[in-house]
Amino acid sequence: MEKILIVDDSLLQATQLRGILDDKYDVTIAQTAEEGLSRASSEDYSLILLDVVMPGMDGFTLLKKLQEEIATQSIPVILITSLSGVEDEQKGLLLGAVDYITKPFNAVIVRARVSTHIKLYKYRQQAERQSMTDQLTGIANRRRYERYSAVKWCEAGRMKVPISICMFDIDHFKIYNDTFGHPAGDKVISAVAKTMASYMKRSTDFVARYGGEEFVALMVGEPSEKVFEHLKSVRQAIEDLRIPHDPKTSEWVTVSVGGVTIVPPPDGSYASYLKVADTMLYDAKRAGRNRVVWANEQLKQMFEKQILREE
Ligand code: GH3
Ligand code: MG
Ligand code: MG
Repeated sequence: MEKILIVDDSLLQATQLRGILDDKYDVTIAQTAEEGLSRASSEDYSLILLDVVMPGMDGFTLLKKLQEEIATQSIPVILITSLSGVEDEQKGLLLGAVDYITKPFNAVIVRARVSTHIKLYKYRQQAERQSMTDQLTGIANRRRYERYSAVKWCEAGRMKVPISICMFDIDHFKIYNDTFGHPAGDKVISAVAKTMASYMKRSTDFVARYGGEEFVALMVGEPSEKVFEHLKSVRQAIEDLRIPHDPKTSEWVTVSVGGVTIVPPPDGSYASYLKVADTMLYDAKRAGRNRVVWANEQLKQMFEKQILREE
């Protein structure tokens, strides 16, 4: 059931409105703008019905605040008022309300408008989710990664906590495609993504498809040794899928992993550390693939499997 928030100081009116809607929706009433704001930012509403005239903070002011907060700015707001003046309607719509209902309510019209705006909201949310998801694997795509990394890099810098940037690349994947065909290759990419995602479940973990057979992960808050250990288990888990590779190349499908853990320095750019992660990945490939190479906070390298084999 979709959740609707009614913000109205008159309990009588709010209850009447709820009566029109609560057979189809989960309706909550807030009797002050302050309560409405705090509920809207902490709960998951698909629509807000907002009374304009309220003592204290009025509906227009609350609408402005809702529009300013990232957590609430996409929730559609329908203004409710007994003021039928064109000016108020104009003001509300200019402030970003999606619609305007005047009291007394006509049940059929209220239901129809509510239903339309909730449908639009759900459609928009779905489109947004799709535009951020990689179609083949269902994990985050490059676009989502670009946004997420920018935000997390700044956050980690501000909070002075370590952030780990990690690149994965499937080993000898061109040969895999050449041997087993592109559709089989696609299945491998999905299986690898699924395994990686199952190891990156914390709220501070993030994994995305970077492109082709490459993935990128971000982990916030852990020191390099811990991340290094964790990545070794992820790499091992992918090897343990035991997906047969071309025997001339390697027994199973494997990945090489490179990364860096760093507390973002005030003058350091994300791009420069992504480059470090990429260099570590390159070194993992050079050292024989199917291994993790990491750069710690002092940019000192850590190698999984010491045997260095030049290819
Ligand atoms: P390395 O171990 O050095 O990474 O070798 P590699 O063959 O994996 O590296 P390379 O970058 O030369 O080749 C990557 C291959 O990945 C080439 C391309 O055919 C394949 N590939 C990229 N995207 C996809 C995809 O979406 N599906 C499939 N099936 N294959 C893909
Ligand atoms: Mg590659
Ligand atoms: Mg590769």
